Amino acid sequence: MNDNYIYLDWAASAPLRPEIKKILLQSYDDFANPSSIHAQGRQSYNSLKEATKNIARLFECKENEIIFTSGATESNNLAILGTIAKQINQKKPIHLITGRSEHSSVYEVFKYLESQGAKVTYLPTGKNGQIRISDLEKSFTKNTLLVSITAASNEIGAINPISKITKIVKKFNPNIKVHTDAAQYAIWNKFNAAKLGADLITISPAKMGGPHGTGILIARGGDLHPIFYGGKQQNSIRPGTENLAGIITTQKTLELAWKNLDKKTQKVKKLRDTLQHYLLKNYSGSFANNPKNGLPNILSITFPGVRGIDLVYALDAAGVGVATGSACSEKNQAVIKRELAALGLSSSEQLSTIRISLGRDTTAEEIELAGKIIIKTAKKLHTEASDLDILDNIGKKIAKKYAK
Ligand code: PMP
Repeated sequence: MNDNYIYLDWAASAPLRPEIKKILLQSYDDFANPSSIHAQGRQSYNSLKEATKNIARLFECKENEIIFTSGATESNNLAILGTIAKQINQKKPIHLITGRSEHSSVYEVFKYLESQGAKVTYLPTGKNGQIRISDLEKSFTKNTLLVSITAASNEIGAINPISKITKIVKKFNPNIKVHTDAAQYAIWNKFNAAKLGADLITISPAKMGGPHGTGILIARGGDLHPIFYGGKQQNSIRPGTENLAGIITTQKTLELAWKNLDKKTQKVKKLRDTLQHYLLKNYSGSFANNPKNGLPNILSITFPGVRGIDLVYALDAAGVGVATGSACSEKNQAVIKRELAALGLSSSEQLSTIRISLGRDTTAEEIELAGKIIIKTAKKLHTEASDLDILDNIGKKIAKKYAK
């Protein structure tokens, strides 16, 4: 990779923190299986216990409420499928509530459950990208089992009031479980599990500068069915040999990510706002979709007259890495952008939108240079697209003439 490349796709993946890179290899010294009873196994078990204890302390929850997974996708699947697994055996009707703008690793699970006969209410989002409490209140039924609402959206950075949502759900029926996908939220918000309120909380250390293949699901009360079956690890809720190096580095990643967080958040927000202001000022008709009080690092911007995917490729060639949206659906541009559609963007506006996401190491110099490159590239693509339109019209006129 070119040293001068400006990486602005932190919401998709963050570079491994240098401190984590250093300790990752050392962590493999605990190579033995934590379930083995010999001395090496006991050493791994102790390291596992120690890391779990420290992580539980960070979230102010119990150790047995922390479940280590392979990433946010697995945590989301385990939270949702693990909650309904019990009910399925009881052959009772199931009603579930989620948001229209959830990440595909939540949304597609509900689509699957719907195909299997569950009733699902998909809550719309308002102009600020949040779900509306009044819609939630109207959605409950006597069969509602689970409500899953993201803490912060990965496309536009809108933040939902999870603690308030949980209180409303529990007031209606304390037995309804609440899950929140906090993969993006946790990067910028230090929280304790009880305060956030949800029963099930997804966290992605990989998005916080930890290694890929690491995820956490906090299952408060530990009341969850497994979706994989095997050994007795992690109370049988998530069997399989633990990724010990991943777990040890997860602890360190969380500690580093949440250190001086206010300062980092302020810095990143200022840079994002500067870039947003510059882009909106210099490209007529452009508009931003990220709400004012959302995540500090996400800028979702629409450049009418330019295809987002063309802009992403052209910017990549010019040395700036951005995205059309979530990496999980980026290679399938035919898919409707649910979050942008929910904000009321037309199909062509959705296709003219890119997501720029900053991270802890983004600098003012990078932002200044990236801004200039983005404007130059977007304007060039716009002119080319207009020229093509003109040529297309001339071509159509000539074809018509000869057809007579
Ligand atoms: N939830 C959210 C909010 C995300 O941003 C992502 C990553 N785009 C995921 C879940 C899935 O994460 P992973 O691909 O690491 O499993």
